[in-house]
Amino acid sequence: MSTFAKTLIDQLKDIVGADYVLTDKLDLALYESDAETLDIAVPDLVVLPASIEQTQAVVRLLSAANIPMTARGAGTGLSGGSTCVHGGASLVFTRMSRVLAVDPYERVAHVQVGATNVSVSKAANKYGLYFAPDPSSQIASTIGGNIAENAGGPHTLKYGMTTHHVLALRGVDSRGEIVEFGGFGRGGVDLTSLMVGSEGTLFLVQEALLRLTARASRVETLLAYFPTVGQCGQAVSDIVAQGVIPAAMEMIDKLTLNAVEDYLKLGLNREAAALLIIELDGDGIDAAHAIVQNCLEANQVISVNWAKDEAERMRIWKARKLSFGALGRIAPHGYVLDGVIPRSRLAEAIDGIAKIGERFGLTIANVYHAGDGNLHPCMLYHRENLDEVKRVMMAGKEILSLCVALGGTLSGEHGIGIEKVEEMQTLLSGDDLAFMGQIKEAFDRDGLFNPGKLLPSLKRCGESGARPLIRHTISAC
Ligand SMILES: Cc1cc2nc3c(=O)[nH]c(=O)nc-3n(C[C@H](O)[C@H](O)[C@H](O)COP(=O)(O)OP(=O)(O)OC[C@H]3O[C@@H](n4cnc5c(N)ncnc54)[C@H](O)[C@@H]3O)c2cc1C
Repeated sequence: MSTFAKTLIDQLKDIVGADYVLTDKLDLALYESDAETLDIAVPDLVVLPASIEQTQAVVRLLSAANIPMTARGAGTGLSGGSTCVHGGASLVFTRMSRVLAVDPYERVAHVQVGATNVSVSKAANKYGLYFAPDPSSQIASTIGGNIAENAGGPHTLKYGMTTHHVLALRGVDSRGEIVEFGGFGRGGVDLTSLMVGSEGTLFLVQEALLRLTARASRVETLLAYFPTVGQCGQAVSDIVAQGVIPAAMEMIDKLTLNAVEDYLKLGLNREAAALLIIELDGDGIDAAHAIVQNCLEANQVISVNWAKDEAERMRIWKARKLSFGALGRIAPHGYVLDGVIPRSRLAEAIDGIAKIGERFGLTIANVYHAGDGNLHPCMLYHRENLDEVKRVMMAGKEILSLCVALGGTLSGEHGIGIEKVEEMQTLLSGDDLAFMGQIKEAFDRDGLFNPGKLLPSLKRCGESGARPLIRHTISAC
């Protein structure tokens, strides 16, 4: 076991129940990382509270003992956000998984933070409502993780990110006090959107009031193939320039397309350089239909297939939603990046990423939320091949630099976490970072909530308390 005094462990067990404090080496190993597996740091203990009151008591105890606390939902994050890089406690909220109420008149859902994204839509479905943010991980990922990362998804293009759908938050601060924002609070400055996307560094979300969206009366989905990625990217830009905002525009490249076909046998065109999925919904579909078709044809589309029924629509979406899983057939590990570029520079970015891949001798698969310029190049690798890991990390840095140089940014939806924390210095000025540090300090004076994430430390990693990660040995901090 650990460096922690037995009395502390016993006190934690008294609060949450003996089965919900984990200190066994094997149990702890399950919490060594999120889905970004380049950064591994085993926590010293795992605590699973079942209520806001239990979380309060746990935080008071750990805070008094000066123990770092890192919130965790389902652990599907892709930037190492819930990895305990400073050790300490992993606070896991999956026991708090209830949708407490759905109000169809106000079109809101009141949920506990460990509810999965999809469970909110399931609960609202009987009223013709749903929770619009739809990360591809929605079957597993929790509302807490979605809020902390400001998650997006294929339909973000039209419906916005998580932040556009959060009306109120209730949580616990680092002193163990309950804090409320937005509609749960009593007025004053509304800090709700400051909290969304704060990656567990400011407070622990426990409950949320979420905006629900009415299901569109009509939805049409198409699948199109292109001879080049550039032509596909140009078609995407043309559609938006013509004034049509589809509900989604998703693109996958040839390598991914073939991995999906190997896996699912959907009858995809293996020869195409790019596959584009477009979804139209709501009013005005007929007018949009014609504009989209024209833009596709103007860019030498190979073929266009409008889904004839719901079953065909679902098949098309399956190809996209299972694309990262399908890549597991090519290599055991994949490092998924999350750069953003202006949509109009898609073709340049794609070309640049291919050149970086060639230079580092890496296989890079590409899946894009093409409509909003959010790129997910996935570098495939074998973790035991340290030379390959090193090249993956160096190529990752170059790809993110390329996105920034093209006028974009470091993250569209996966957050900064530990993965991109050092790159923050390339994006923001010292003044900006210092200001953000002051915000962190205002909410978490002792820096106990998710240390090492989002904001770079002025200390070198050997001095900061961070455990040695693969990335530290490669970048030499
Ligand atoms: C196959 C796959 C597909 C994905 N697709 C998408 C996608 O389309 N769009 C997208 O945005 N993301 C996607 N992701 C990334 C990931 O699913 C999201 O970031 C998701 O929001 C994380 O939720 P989680 O419950 O797994 O959170 P975790 O990974 O457990 O935690 C994520 C962050 O949230 C913090 N956190 C968790 N709970 C709380 C809380 N209660 N209070 C405060 N902070 C908290 C953690 O400290 C951490 O910083 C994908 C991941 C995978 C593996």
